[in-house]
Amino acid sequence: MSDAMMAPRAKVEEKLFQNRYLVDAGRPHIKVKAHTVPSPSLMAMTTLCPAGCYTQTESGQVEVAADGCLECGTCRIVTRKTGEIEWNYPRGGFGVLYKFG
Ligand code: SF4
Repeated sequence: MSDAMMAPRAKVEEKLFQNRYLVDAGRPHIKVKAHTVPSPSLMAMTTLCPAGCYTQTESGQVEVAADGCLECGTCRIVTRKTGEIEWNYPRGGFGVLYKFG
């Protein structure tokens, strides 16, 4: 077995911790549209988002805090048919700063 195969591997969480995020204050690149009851697709984002950006409020709505968003696009795809979110890339120079590609 080669040395590369024997080297300890970093966990995904450890790699993600190396990323940095530059917040564009007052200009979130993802917004959840006003709703009373979230669709199952929007609700699913509270567990699917790899950055934990989606949470459910005490009154049952789903909200997003885009700080830390990895720009993976999962929420954009999952809610594509319901149209419950507005999704754009952050402005140039803002958003996630990857260290591992
Ligand atoms: S793009 Fe990915 S990381 Fe960003 S909020 Fe959506 S699911 Fe979460």
